[in-house]
Amino acid sequence: MIRKFISRVLKLGSAKTAAKPASAKGVKGAKNAPGKQQAAIIPRSSHGISRDQISSGSRRVCETLHSHGFKAYVVGGAVRDLLVGAKPKDFDVATDATPEEAKRCFRRSRIIGRRFQIVHAYMGQEIIEITTFRGALGNDAKTDAHGRVLHDNVFGSMAEDAARRDFTVNALYFDPATEQIHDYHHGVADLKQKTLRMIGEPKVRYREDPVRMLRAIRLAAKLGLTIDPEARHPIREMAELLENVPAARLFDEMLKLLTSGHAVKCLQQLRAEGLHHGVLPMLDVILEQPMGEKFVMLSLADTDERIRRGKTSSPSFLFATLLWHEVLGAWERIKSSGESSIPALHQAMEEVLNVQGEKLAITRRIAGDIKEIWALQPRFEQRSGKRPFGVLEHPRFRAAYDFLCLRAKAGELDEEIAQWWTDFQNAEGEGRSSMLMPDQGPKKKRRRRRKPRQDGEAAPSPSDDQE
Ligand code: ATP
Ligand code: MG
Repeated sequence: MIRKFISRVLKLGSAKTAAKPASAKGVKGAKNAPGKQQAAIIPRSSHGISRDQISSGSRRVCETLHSHGFKAYVVGGAVRDLLVGAKPKDFDVATDATPEEAKRCFRRSRIIGRRFQIVHAYMGQEIIEITTFRGALGNDAKTDAHGRVLHDNVFGSMAEDAARRDFTVNALYFDPATEQIHDYHHGVADLKQKTLRMIGEPKVRYREDPVRMLRAIRLAAKLGLTIDPEARHPIREMAELLENVPAARLFDEMLKLLTSGHAVKCLQQLRAEGLHHGVLPMLDVILEQPMGEKFVMLSLADTDERIRRGKTSSPSFLFATLLWHEVLGAWERIKSSGESSIPALHQAMEEVLNVQGEKLAITRRIAGDIKEIWALQPRFEQRSGKRPFGVLEHPRFRAAYDFLCLRAKAGELDEEIAQWWTDFQNAEGEGRSSMLMPDQGPKKKRRRRRKPRQDGEAAPSPSDDQE
């Protein structure tokens, strides 16, 4: 009743409805009979989105599918983002054509995925993901011991597809031909009320897929929505289910979260909900060390700023900053056990990446980049001889320099060093050479190394000042 009233106030009542808009009761009904309810059909005059606002690729994909007699809609995040005035990341299309049928409609397309196949259509520079409507999960759906759905490969009706989506604001279908939005779960009204509401029973939906807990936090932060209490409350007690999620999936979701442009807010929220444990096993430890917290928060604020200005942020940089204080801790420990500085740093890097890398499925390539960023840090402290030129030419210089600036900002390192590198990069020719510090003479060190060792004395470092 109340929701109907609100929807009328919001002028959604003027929508040409194919059936009654799903009321609060209707949504609950969906738990028992998923995919049985009908959609509210909201005209452009009410929602305000025109077909010009969707990408030309997704528009052409829908037109082509329509011309072959299929239904086709832009669905999910793109519609939701347009409704709140945000720029969609991508435009996905949902259709009643099977993957084979959809593929036949496009010259440049291919089927991907084994269990649940989707079609990628190449439209100029754009790749449009075309998904066939998914069917309701049967009682015989294959799950792991904790209830996480493993197989999900049934096609179904549009209404069933809507019921399978996670949040009401994600179950919106925009038809470019009519410019109408098909809204099965009152998503437009929820969006206007700034509420992120789960479709169906939140506990059941989290058990089916624990990643939805992370999605809830990310989407709420990104869109400025409040998670509906029914969906928020179970998160704390169900957080541990994230431990059973495959690492690669967790990595993807974590990356989305960190590059959402709202990472600081997301992290605060993850902490508030007790989710940081499951996601990055040591994140809570890092955040409890004042220096670690300062560094991570500064780094994420910096990333948010970059992303909001339309710049990119590399995953390696992000994870390098998140794990840095773990490395610092391990580095100190290994050094105090007698290892010399640089070998100790390399051991610490391996150790941290082994533990976190496994849980997060950090790829080899990313792990390689992360190590380079870390390994360059002590080299910034050498500002004599030819060494700074080598550092400047290092392929990972830019990222490592940004990392250095963050460390300085966090108070972990003398600002003067970061400033020196800023000036050194900007200087030219003679000016650059004149900045070099007097060489403290590796010869002197070598001489020291030749001294006979006393019993029990730690072996000198072969290159304490070099990588
Ligand atoms: P964004 O693209 O901004 O990260 P999104 O909501 O579009 O957010 P995608 O991963 O692109 O996220 O998913 C597209 C759509 O697929 C979602 O809007 C939602 O309808 C559905 N979806 C994605 N992940 C899930 C999930 N775990 N459970 C149910 N539905 C999902
Ligand atoms: Mg998306």
